[in-house]
Amino acid sequence: MKRISLLLLIFVAISSIKSVGQNVDSLQIAKLFSTALKDNEGYKVLYQLCKRAGPRISGSSLSDTAVNMMAKVLNQWGADTVWLQECMVPKWVRGEKEQAKIISSTLKMNEVVPVCALGGSIGTSASGLKANVIEVFAIGELKNLNPADIKGKIVFYNGPMPPESIFTFHAYGKTVGQRWASAIEAARYGAVGVVVRSVASHVDSHPHTGSMAYNDTIAKIPSVAISTEGAEKLSAALKKDKNLQFWFKTSCETHPDVLSHNVIAEIKGSKFPNEVIVVGGHLDAWDMAEGAHDDGAGVVHSMEVIRLFKVLGIKPQRTIRVVLFMNEENGTRGAKAYANWAKTSGEEHIAAIESDAGGFTPRGFTLDCPEAVKYYLRNKFAPILNYFSVGDFLHNGSGADIGYLKDICPLLSGLSPDSQRYFDYHHAEIDVFEAVNDRELELGSAAVASFVFLLDKYGNGMERTGGGGGNH
Ligand SMILES: [Zn+2]
Repeated sequence: MKRISLLLLIFVAISSIKSVGQNVDSLQIAKLFSTALKDNEGYKVLYQLCKRAGPRISGSSLSDTAVNMMAKVLNQWGADTVWLQECMVPKWVRGEKEQAKIISSTLKMNEVVPVCALGGSIGTSASGLKANVIEVFAIGELKNLNPADIKGKIVFYNGPMPPESIFTFHAYGKTVGQRWASAIEAARYGAVGVVVRSVASHVDSHPHTGSMAYNDTIAKIPSVAISTEGAEKLSAALKKDKNLQFWFKTSCETHPDVLSHNVIAEIKGSKFPNEVIVVGGHLDAWDMAEGAHDDGAGVVHSMEVIRLFKVLGIKPQRTIRVVLFMNEENGTRGAKAYANWAKTSGEEHIAAIESDAGGFTPRGFTLDCPEAVKYYLRNKFAPILNYFSVGDFLHNGSGADIGYLKDICPLLSGLSPDSQRYFDYHHAEIDVFEAVNDRELELGSAAVASFVFLLDKYGNGMERTGGGGGNH
């Protein structure tokens, strides 16, 4: 039965394509997909990563466990070299489980609501922080308010992710600033704390953490995210009693930086070893869950490129380098360490692909590159990848980690899975192994491996490497 499906897949792929090169490529890509789906090896590694090193925030001992575990797997999968690259990372510790309540004598309300500290926040005093609340829907609203209405209060940022965005990363991009800059902007007007509506597309009881910023010139005030359901409750209660109080208690704190590592593994290029294709995801994950979609999936997608190439005997002409970046979530120190090193390594980075958008069904790849490269990929690669439903090169963007390679790499790209459910899980306690479907995960691995296969064979469309490296 399985054999018949593979033959059928290959037949369908071959029957509608035109050139001989595309036939050969489609056959190879069909094998990448069928091998990933049959072996299911990536899913097993995701299980280990999630269950043995789950909440592997930078600087934690679980992040060290993840580093060692993934380096071992990459060795077992036959990478030519595996090494650890040092980087110093922040160490932020959440402490005890956070607590929060909406308190109103007028409404006879003393209701517990789910919150979590935002990453990097200071904690409250031991008895917590209690104050009146002022609600806004965007940071920009603060400057239009009377500062006396903000001073001494908790600012409640209740801007939702815009539901009308079809590609949910666009909605995230419009909303995430509310989390990042919330404390600085509120403290500027004398607020004593911040409650931010979780940047999530679904209304439920799970708070979503994420990074927030302070600066040295403005007072640091404690910040929490509230679940979307909690945000709606608080908003509704404020409409009835604008003098209600909000209480929350957190014990998070920041410790001195500690040493950590990126995990780097590669297959050396047989013809052009100095030309590098980077494929990566981030190994760290927030501390509230198992980091399955964010970014266990991306770690697996990247690692499986090496496994699939080895299993199928694909000998790349260029160097294929997997980088599992440390500290994407709260500092991108691993990305900076890699980029600094890459700029002096004497190599040529021809492309970098990041997977950090979840383990859902892959659709294609986002692009950050010159128009000529986009044109090349849409005309040369998309027709082949479309047979496997992964040829969408329409969206712009790449990834937070590989972004640091922009000066030295002409093609940055991100795996683009279906985005509808990603922000249900992102940075919340429900981002666990069980939330990832094995077939969807493996399709992502095959998609990344296929794109890497084509890039290795044909280059990135830039003049000197176009057409199978013919201009060397
Ligand atoms: Zn991520």
